[in-house]
Amino acid sequence: MKATLAFIGLGSNLAHPRRQLARAAGALARLPRSRLLALSHNYVGAPVGCSQAQPDYVNAVALLRTTLPPRALLHRLQTIEHRQHRRRDPGAPRNAPRTLDLDLLLYGHRQIDIPQLTVPHPRMHERAFVLRPLRDLAPAARIPGRGLASRLLRALRGQRLARTRTHPPR
Ligand code: ATP
Ligand code: CA
Ligand code: CA
Repeated sequence: MKATLAFIGLGSNLAHPRRQLARAAGALARLPRSRLLALSHNYVGAPVGCSQAQPDYVNAVALLRTTLPPRALLHRLQTIEHRQHRRRDPGAPRNAPRTLDLDLLLYGHRQIDIPQLTVPHPRMHERAFVLRPLRDLAPAARIPGRGLASRLLRALRGQRLARTRTHPPR
């Protein structure tokens, strides 16, 4: 199978977020049939779109080259989340605090809409914490159906975000 470039969004706001992201990056680097090509800076920002108060998020984006098909890749990402104690309580709101969230943002230029998986990630274009690290890795990145990530980011100046340090890889 031909290799595809996939972008993964990483996020955490519980249990040492920077450490969670470093550990997740290590796990991405060890995925089968894949190579971790790049990891963005970390960015810290207030939670977006949640009703209850919760800690700030640390976010980053990773670039993988992979021959894993999209559904298998999503499954691998969920396994990594689970290993890092991500809990999905049935009653919890969508934006509940979490130790680790891994979203499949882009899979080549493909648009995918199957049960459990929509690519491009359906909310990435309205999130500075995704677009900013994505632009660091790929300044000319396009989101199929939406356009240039850098143009979309300009409309989100109100979403405050600060670069923060990266925990050493693990
Ligand atoms: P959001 O999707 O708004 O970022 P979230 O990351 O908190 O919210 P989750 O609870 O992690 O949402 O995921 C809910 C479901 O979204 C998962 O069960 C998964 O099947 C589905 N899903 C659909 N498309 C994607 C994608 N591109 N990446 C990751 N999960 C996806
Ligand atoms: Ca998410
Ligand atoms: Ca998710």
